[in-house]
Amino acid sequence: MDSNDFREFGKAMIDYIADYMENIRNRDVLPSVTPGYLENQIPKETPVEGDNWKDVLHDVEKLIMPGVTHWHSPHFHAYYPTSQSYPSIVGEMLSAGIGCVGFSWMASPACTELEVITMNWLGKLLGLPEQFLNCSEGPGGGVIQGSASESTLVALLAAKERVVRLVKQNNPSLSEGDIKGKLVAYTSDQANSSVEKSGILASIPMIHLPSDNNGSLRGDILREAIRKDKEAGLIPCYVVANLGTTGTCAFDNLEELGVVCNEEEVWLHVDAAYAGAAFVCPEYRHLMKGVELCDSFTFNPHKWMLVNFDCSALWVKDARYLVEAFNVDRIYLQHQHEGNAPDYRHWQIPLGRRFRALKLWFVLRIYGTEGIRQHIRHHINLAKHFEQLVHNDARFEVLTSSLGLICFRLQGEDSLTKELLEKITANKKLYLIPCYTQQKYVIRFVVCSRITTNEDINCSWAEIVSQANTIVPYPTDKSSIMQEPKKQDYLNLSKYNEPSVNVNEKSK
Ligand SMILES: *Cc1c(COP(=O)(O)O)cnc(C)c1O
Repeated sequence: MDSNDFREFGKAMIDYIADYMENIRNRDVLPSVTPGYLENQIPKETPVEGDNWKDVLHDVEKLIMPGVTHWHSPHFHAYYPTSQSYPSIVGEMLSAGIGCVGFSWMASPACTELEVITMNWLGKLLGLPEQFLNCSEGPGGGVIQGSASESTLVALLAAKERVVRLVKQNNPSLSEGDIKGKLVAYTSDQANSSVEKSGILASIPMIHLPSDNNGSLRGDILREAIRKDKEAGLIPCYVVANLGTTGTCAFDNLEELGVVCNEEEVWLHVDAAYAGAAFVCPEYRHLMKGVELCDSFTFNPHKWMLVNFDCSALWVKDARYLVEAFNVDRIYLQHQHEGNAPDYRHWQIPLGRRFRALKLWFVLRIYGTEGIRQHIRHHINLAKHFEQLVHNDARFEVLTSSLGLICFRLQGEDSLTKELLEKITANKKLYLIPCYTQQKYVIRFVVCSRITTNEDINCSWAEIVSQANTIVPYPTDKSSIMQEPKKQDYLNLSKYNEPSVNVNEKSK
């Protein structure tokens, strides 16, 4: 393919993506394929003579799209959002075009320097304490990781290194192996699976402490666990506090946990993968009260902040612990400017790294702080709107409501809500997943797509109601319904297929 073909192919693909987003409401959120669907439709071997790009693009629509779950459909309400925005997509394109591998400053100075700058912008946008920023006087700094899973593991490995050194200083007779065999880490029973996995990967037991009725881990529970474990000869090393748990978007009491960790010299890491984006709005920063007490903080701009996967932001109060844990210098990696700028290879697991700061920079510049705040507030308002719709139908109850996530169920036995979810999923118009909270089976409703409108929420609710009607009859006693849903809400989803203009995005 020469550059002229590339111009054509690239432009055709941009058009394809724009059309995809404008018409995404016409597609069922969930695909109708079964495992192995692709195998029979694609040749067993790579073509010998290269195919024409037009045939490839044609096959994307014919073969690939039928097997895609449409995460950016306004009727996708499962898991948590994964971001996608036009500035970010273009940033990804440029990153691919430059195609550098930025493991050290010298390997591509702009790659490191733009990352330092955008991580400072981002930290300030969230209102993080100055000491976490690269631009502070101290040893703090931020880095882009591929995922929150990596951020949590990297911080755990740094914590492990720190505690081994500390214990060895005070007990020179203990071997590193002795110390490592006694380490324990803690998180809440609501933590994301990636937190447990980080313990497995680092060979440190990750203890799941009970959260309270609000799904929040409290300081006294942690203090007691640490006391008992120390008594048993173990060495507490790492605590992961969850701001915005995956199940119900609950918040651990960071301030209480921070006090305990600081007293005990235990590394405190904050996992705010989803909810961290809300801290761009000052009105939600009370939820991270105590953040100055933590040692590391991660959130995913690729979840709720308009940056395409992968982009996980990690800040540490003292980056020297990362560098000490991961520095394995080789002669071929050294360069004359070492020490003046971070060599990010020491802050992460792989050697190679992509130029991810470009897409982050594009999003921050083109949306601006106000555009990003509007996006978050808009989503939270949509979630509140949905919550109101649920409240208005007496057959349902709302169990939790936090940021863009509402957990709701049909009143009565769990089996009713299970049946409801099965029916919704079988119809493929909406994608929702369940969880358990307060010993009850609930459906999680998350506002995910960037282009979601009030109409879209009405439409999703209409689909839920129409499935619920087949399980629990629509009450004929109108007094039990505070407000009857409008007739038009029951129309087919495909009615709502007019392209929605993204009000958040400034067009230049
Ligand atoms: C999504 C999520 C994760 C995992 O994020 P990855 O970037 O996929 O590793 C971790 N913690 C919480 C609270 C999450 O919501």
